[in-house]
Amino acid sequence: MANVFLKPGREARIASGHLWVYAGEIARVEGAVRDGGIVDVRTTRGKWLGRGFFTRRSALSVRLLTHRPEEINEAFFRRRLQNAWAYRQRMLVATDACRVVYGEGDLLPGLIVDRYADVLVLQTLALGMDVRKEMLLGILTDLLQPEAVYERNDPSVRTLEGLPRRSGWLAGERDPLVEIRDGPARFLVDVATGQKTGFFLDQRDNRMAAATLVKDLDVLDAFCYTGGFAVLAALGGAKTVTAVDSSPEALALARRNAELNGVAGRCRFVEANVFDELRRLADSSARFDAVILDPPPFARTKDALERALGGYKEINLRALKVLRSGGWLITCSCSSHVGETLLQQVVAAAAVDAKREVRLVETRGHARDHPVHPAMPETRYLSCLILEVR
Ligand code: SAH
Repeated sequence: MANVFLKPGREARIASGHLWVYAGEIARVEGAVRDGGIVDVRTTRGKWLGRGFFTRRSALSVRLLTHRPEEINEAFFRRRLQNAWAYRQRMLVATDACRVVYGEGDLLPGLIVDRYADVLVLQTLALGMDVRKEMLLGILTDLLQPEAVYERNDPSVRTLEGLPRRSGWLAGERDPLVEIRDGPARFLVDVATGQKTGFFLDQRDNRMAAATLVKDLDVLDAFCYTGGFAVLAALGGAKTVTAVDSSPEALALARRNAELNGVAGRCRFVEANVFDELRRLADSSARFDAVILDPPPFARTKDALERALGGYKEINLRALKVLRSGGWLITCSCSSHVGETLLQQVVAAAAVDAKREVRLVETRGHARDHPVHPAMPETRYLSCLILEVR
């Protein structure tokens, strides 16, 4: 087994459970190891810390798999995948779609597996996982017996690992449009061309929470994608739902999803840039009792933070302007750089500018099938605030 020795003083984060070792933290590598192979990580003086994937191709040199001296073989991955699947089966009710594996959150760094009814979608975003793809596929097939498995290895982070971007069926070709059940709703998910792996599973619990607040209300779902919040709000009894997105493909599926759930009569879908549409609505007489803001990540990197905060403030300010007194603002950020605290500050500042009083009612994160690794703040990226507006 090759050994990676850390530079002096670099062991604290790893010793406290974090799973990443950066190239700049490594003093030396002893022994032969191929990219994607397994190494032991040790302190400068040689104390054993853990074991994981090694690569020279990425700034993220080691992704730890374990802090225990266990062998990393097929049985190891089978145990980890079994645990991940058993956990979902235990806590997910009334849905046949979930994230089965959430990378580091499941101690399986760089691996994402989503289940959409009988179809699995696989992402191997780290080299160590990618070289083990066939083995992982075999175990997953055993455990979940899927009808088909689709590879969505198109995210740009793959290039940081020196991996090509590709997607396609790995097993059992079929129509990429899959129908899932999520609580009271049904959705069509396009696993081949949809955003991320097809659906925003991370927002499941927040959509359900929002739906309980909107009976008989006029709702605006901004950044609606394929209608997740819109359909659940309509099923929750919303009087009207106006849903806005800039993607015509997403809206086409959103309309089909509204029809599938028998709520199309109360939903209106608008193709527009949310920034423009909110301004237009504020200038018109249109007003809402609930506004949902679920934008794409405005801050993908720390450097983009300043501009991103401006973007979050602008949409929150405009949302406040179209809300009736007593209404709900359900506002989200899926940039890990803009967490709960920053988002809360943004909303507070927007409220001052809009001359509205707001009260924070609930603070939420991602759904339970996206468990956070407590030593890795990076694994917590979604924040959702529910506010009452006067
Ligand atoms: N709320 C959705 C997920 C939203 S993802 C759900 O629960 O499923 C973010 C969406 O914002 C994407 O559909 C993307 O097409 C859209 N989008 C990104 N920038 C936009 C903009 N400036 N105006 C309107 N929509 C935008």
